[in-house]
Amino acid sequence: MSDHVLVINAGSSSLKYSLIDGASGEAAASGLVERIGEPESRHLHRGPDGETSATLKIASHEDAMRAVISAFEEYGPSFDDIEIVAIGHRVVHGGSRFADPVLIDDELVAAVTELVPLAPLHNPANLEGIRVARQLFPDHPQVAVFDTAFHQTLPPEAYTYAVPLEWRDDHGIRRYGFHGTSHAFVSAEAARVLGRDLGDLNLIVLHLGNGCSATAVRGGVSVETSMGMTPLEGLVMGTRSGDLDPAIHAHLVRELGWTVDKIDRALNHESGLKGIAGDNDFRELTTRRSAGDPHAQLAFDIYCHRLKKYIGAYYAVLGTVDAIVFTAGVGQHSAGVRATTLTGLERLGIHLDPARNNHPTPTTISTPDSPVTILVIPTNEEWQIARETLALLEPHD
Ligand code: AMP
Repeated sequence: MSDHVLVINAGSSSLKYSLIDGASGEAAASGLVERIGEPESRHLHRGPDGETSATLKIASHEDAMRAVISAFEEYGPSFDDIEIVAIGHRVVHGGSRFADPVLIDDELVAAVTELVPLAPLHNPANLEGIRVARQLFPDHPQVAVFDTAFHQTLPPEAYTYAVPLEWRDDHGIRRYGFHGTSHAFVSAEAARVLGRDLGDLNLIVLHLGNGCSATAVRGGVSVETSMGMTPLEGLVMGTRSGDLDPAIHAHLVRELGWTVDKIDRALNHESGLKGIAGDNDFRELTTRRSAGDPHAQLAFDIYCHRLKKYIGAYYAVLGTVDAIVFTAGVGQHSAGVRATTLTGLERLGIHLDPARNNHPTPTTISTPDSPVTILVIPTNEEWQIARETLALLEPHD
């Protein structure tokens, strides 16, 4: 039997998990505990016999992890049948320090703790997941896989903000980029689908989910990416604004007396598609747009316009582009976003095939003679984390 990795993604009030076969990427089980700490938490577990869900009170991440272990015992697969060889943790921010996955020990925990100021919402939750997993699985090797790691190859001109030296040197203010696990996975898959060496390819990868980011990948290496010091910069997202004039912040403080926390919350949780049209679910917006709702139409137009600007910018950064790759919820499912964004880019050698684009399970959606291939590739961050975890643990010469 091949090696299985328990992949854990701990959020501030949630714990997602998947038991992944490292060779095939198949999930032997997966699940989600949400609303941890609230009076009614929910636990969804998908095992060999299908899906079970329970509403119960789960007070802490430790209780959540115990509930996960119980679900495996009750609904399977049993840890006697499928042996977990390691635990892989998604960690959002690795700062400038981590360009690769790292075996978790006390030193790593201390280093990730030092990075909390850069990701105050995410890293503490990830650390809590690590703490609990180490406590309940003390004999298993545990590996941290960072969202930022793939982008540590950005050149200085791409990662440096034009701000005073002291900001950059003393406070870690720079572009780090996120969704790295997804961009790495999708890039490798694109090479496989194209039957080419990843090292020979220039790609623009568009991860369009609740969070959205674009990355320019040259020879398998990230050379430019849209998210910045935090996941707020760049594309229009479900609830995040993406790019905006940084002086708006000062304006809101000066003119309206808003606090920093209020602005931060609004830009992260009340902006993006939700801010424009009152809804961050793209399916909902698509339905409303079809019914002629002008707010949904504007949200769609802004979303595609921003995306188009990034494609143009990254085309220029790369010089030549072999493929544009769409992934994640919106990227995989919205033929409308793909069509609207790419229309008008024919002079850049980008030719979308409408019939292929509208196929229910599209892969290659460009015309056969399009100089730039356009692909739709499902991402699989859990498999990527499992693979990177196993690769780190493999004995090396
Ligand atoms: P993700 O973060 O990858 O799970 O993506 C979530 C986003 O994808 C949400 O905005 C969903 O509404 C959107 N999404 C999922 N399925 C579809 C679909 N069939 N059509 C349009 N958007 C979708």
